[in-house]
Amino acid sequence: MQESVTENSKQKRNIQVADRFVTLAGRLPIEIEPDLCKECGLCVEACPPKVLRISNNLNVMGYHPVEYIGRGCTSCGICFYVCPEPGAITIHKKVR
Ligand code: SF4
Ligand code: SF4
Repeated sequence: MQESVTENSKQKRNIQVADRFVTLAGRLPIEIEPDLCKECGLCVEACPPKVLRISNNLNVMGYHPVEYIGRGCTSCGICFYVCPEPGAITIHKKVR
């Protein structure tokens, strides 16, 4: 069985790197909470394989939230670190 870990953006501050990971399994590599996204586009620009895009939908704040195209995410975490909105992006990383 494949094991994975999660970087939760709610735990982004005041924590040790080793404590940032929580074991989970069977998740997509990235989860986006649409209603917390403010459409700044930083994650779209920063993503190396360009697997994020601005959606056509509107969230509760009237922004077009980012969405994952559904393939190609490497769980590098760059989008997580550039996102200014805590809780908007969660990354699941595989454990070797
Ligand atoms: S974790 Fe890396 S590859 Fe995946 S969406 Fe974020 S920046 Fe792109
Ligand atoms: S960096 Fe965060 S707030 Fe900005 S577009 Fe991406 S998910 Fe939305």
